[in-house]
Amino acid sequence: REPLLQVENLKKHFPVRGGVLGRTIGTVKAVEDVSFTVHKGETLGIVGESGCGKSTTGRMLLRLIEPTEGKVFFEGKEVTKLSNNELRKMRRDMQMVFQDPFASLNPRHTVEKILEEPLKVHGIGTPAERKKRVKELLETVGLSSYHAKRYPHQFSGGQRQRIGIARALMTKPKLIIADEPVSALDVSIQSQVLNLMQDLQKDFGLTYIVIAHDLGVVRHISDRVGVMYLGKMAEITSSEKLYDHPLHPYTQALLSAVPIPDPLYEKNSVVLEGDIPSPADPPSGCTFHTRCPFKMDMCEKLVPQLQEHEEGHYVACHLYSKGKQSASQNKEMVG
Ligand code: SF4
Ligand code: MG
Repeated sequence: REPLLQVENLKKHFPVRGGVLGRTIGTVKAVEDVSFTVHKGETLGIVGESGCGKSTTGRMLLRLIEPTEGKVFFEGKEVTKLSNNELRKMRRDMQMVFQDPFASLNPRHTVEKILEEPLKVHGIGTPAERKKRVKELLETVGLSSYHAKRYPHQFSGGQRQRIGIARALMTKPKLIIADEPVSALDVSIQSQVLNLMQDLQKDFGLTYIVIAHDLGVVRHISDRVGVMYLGKMAEITSSEKLYDHPLHPYTQALLSAVPIPDPLYEKNSVVLEGDIPSPADPPSGCTFHTRCPFKMDMCEKLVPQLQEHEEGHYVACHLYSKGKQSASQNKEMVG
């Protein structure tokens, strides 16, 4: 499939200030050298614990946060080089859905006004055409046109996220970046919103990046999944391979924590030791070594690179950089 978005060596470093003078005393490498491609019509899930850099990555793609280094290409155009005017135009094609629909919808505006806003910003349509599109989209996301005159607080959490999704769709985007789109919702509502997103993807040929802290949430919606840890991509591959045959010990640990309803499904149980280290002071070598049950001596010294272990299956772990033989031995050890 054709690439829609390409991300190359993306980095975001934030200064850490401290002391009475507020001097820079260090750097948080929130995102460190992240590369991936998203193809037209697919869904890429990006998963990791809070603070792993997944939201920062998502925001840098739209330049809501400016990258420290690296490149982002959208339809071959370098997003990181666009002027403000060009960037504004490009944002018609790339929209964002946020975690907390209540915080992201202006409480003093009617739904109609909220949904019209992106069209006004981009100078799309006459007032009558905009109102018509608002009504269409309310129905598209499973609400009704009579909801247009209501305010955000008059809706449930799930309905508000439907409004957030409708707002993202107003400009007919090609790519939607959804940052934890269902994590503020009740479990029973989560699957309804995810199903809606899947239907919309089919109907409008959308491409998605879905960011989540939970591998369970992105499982059914994603074609491929990338797992991030402390600002880096630990593993990225197709959903089937990631869930059936995870390679990185961190992915194995995350999957061990996901309840699997199928009793025939045997999974390796990898239990994480300790807490996430501070991103301001990450461990040397493999940043996962402080929590990894398979840690070797080299892991504290050498940074593992993201490498293709099998076709389309990338992993950054020394267990797999020593050649196929020892990697398969490891599989037995893990199993
Ligand atoms: Fe564990 Fe070493 Fe692999 Fe890091 S490189 S995940 S510490 S085995
Ligand atoms: Mg986040």
